[in-house]
Amino acid sequence: MTALFHRRCGADLPIASTGDGCFIIDKNGKRYLDSCGGAAVSCLGHSFEPVKTAIQEQLASLPFAHTSFFTTGAAEAMAQALIKHAPAGISRVYPLSGGSEAVEAAIKLARQFFIETGQPQRHKIIARRQSYHGNTIGALAAGGNQWRREPFTPLLMETSHIAPCYEYRDRKSDESAWDYAQRVANELETEIQRLGAENVMAFIAEPVVGATAGAVPPVPGYFKRIREICDTHGVLLILDEVMCGMGRTGTLFASEQDGIAPDIVTIAKGLGAGYQPVGAMLCTEKIYETIAIGSGFFQHGHTYLAHPIAMAAATAVIETLVAPGMLSRVRERGDMLQTLLEEYLGDHPHVGDIRGRGLFRGIEMVESKSTKAPFDPAKRLHQKIKAAGMDAGLMCYPMGGTIDGKSGDHILLAPPFIIEEAE
Ligand code: PLP
Repeated sequence: MTALFHRRCGADLPIASTGDGCFIIDKNGKRYLDSCGGAAVSCLGHSFEPVKTAIQEQLASLPFAHTSFFTTGAAEAMAQALIKHAPAGISRVYPLSGGSEAVEAAIKLARQFFIETGQPQRHKIIARRQSYHGNTIGALAAGGNQWRREPFTPLLMETSHIAPCYEYRDRKSDESAWDYAQRVANELETEIQRLGAENVMAFIAEPVVGATAGAVPPVPGYFKRIREICDTHGVLLILDEVMCGMGRTGTLFASEQDGIAPDIVTIAKGLGAGYQPVGAMLCTEKIYETIAIGSGFFQHGHTYLAHPIAMAAATAVIETLVAPGMLSRVRERGDMLQTLLEEYLGDHPHVGDIRGRGLFRGIEMVESKSTKAPFDPAKRLHQKIKAAGMDAGLMCYPMGGTIDGKSGDHILLAPPFIIEEAE
């Protein structure tokens, strides 16, 4: 009997023992091609020497120093490396241990910003129904996934959820992509007006939606309009790039491709590439300065903030991602993956949509291609596909659930950036 509390209680999982490039090898020697990076984490595969070396060197010199006593060279270097490539206006990095922590920090930073600018009534958050922002209580409240939220509803702060930008299901046949972008983005303005702009603190969204719907990119113009609305009403724009950031879509930050910059952005997953649990919240100088000149203290923290070993791993990852050729490789391999998926699965009667950006691709399955009706969720089709994949030595990330009662099963593919053509 195991003493380990598995999330799926009693799960009979293979025992992973070794990493080899894009493969995980179990204790019986069976090889699994990691075509989803776990959950879009392992962007450099499972045996990437420069990151391992960076970790070993940091471990040999200093494993830990609490941030209330010290800064470290490792943390300063990580922040510097990241800021060099951050969206316009973003100038400060707050390092954390994962995605949910980064989102919690973003929410609290937004709140503190408005307190310190003399607008303490601004506390309301608007998010989208198609979203996942993490599993801690604040991040869970922001997210729109009903199944994840449901048992904890009495504990969650009130959040408004507006429509996602979900072209496959929502764009009308007589509507241009541009008109659709404006219509759906304008829901944000309607909701801000309904709540009273003076009460609204932030809008949070994933530039390319990950864990709820399988790599759904926005239509061109959507985020430009969102940015405009936030600016008009003095609402902070928080972009959650925990899954789609760190090169996953072919640019270091996904929002670069939408031509906008956020006020606050969260990252994790690919930042540590699975070698360390690490995330970060980044913000503009204006937000940082407001707090620096005001109370001078961000009222939020954790024991493992800016953990030196995590920082060393993250710096090695960032340097690898921005090295010449890496992000263009993600774009090229991503285009190739899309082409292959369309070639092999495009005509399948139960494949409704194949989409994404870079090495971040989603397959949406439908019972009927013409009506786009999803399968009965009770069939748990996505879980069956995951199990069949594991039998065959192929990892793919399954997603079920419904968005607005419409969408069903998805598969997310997010392979390591080092993946070879044959793999
Ligand atoms: N935000 C997004 C967009 C995510 O996809 C996730 C995790 O899947 C999180 C936040 C939470 O990150 P973590 O699981 O590291 O807490």
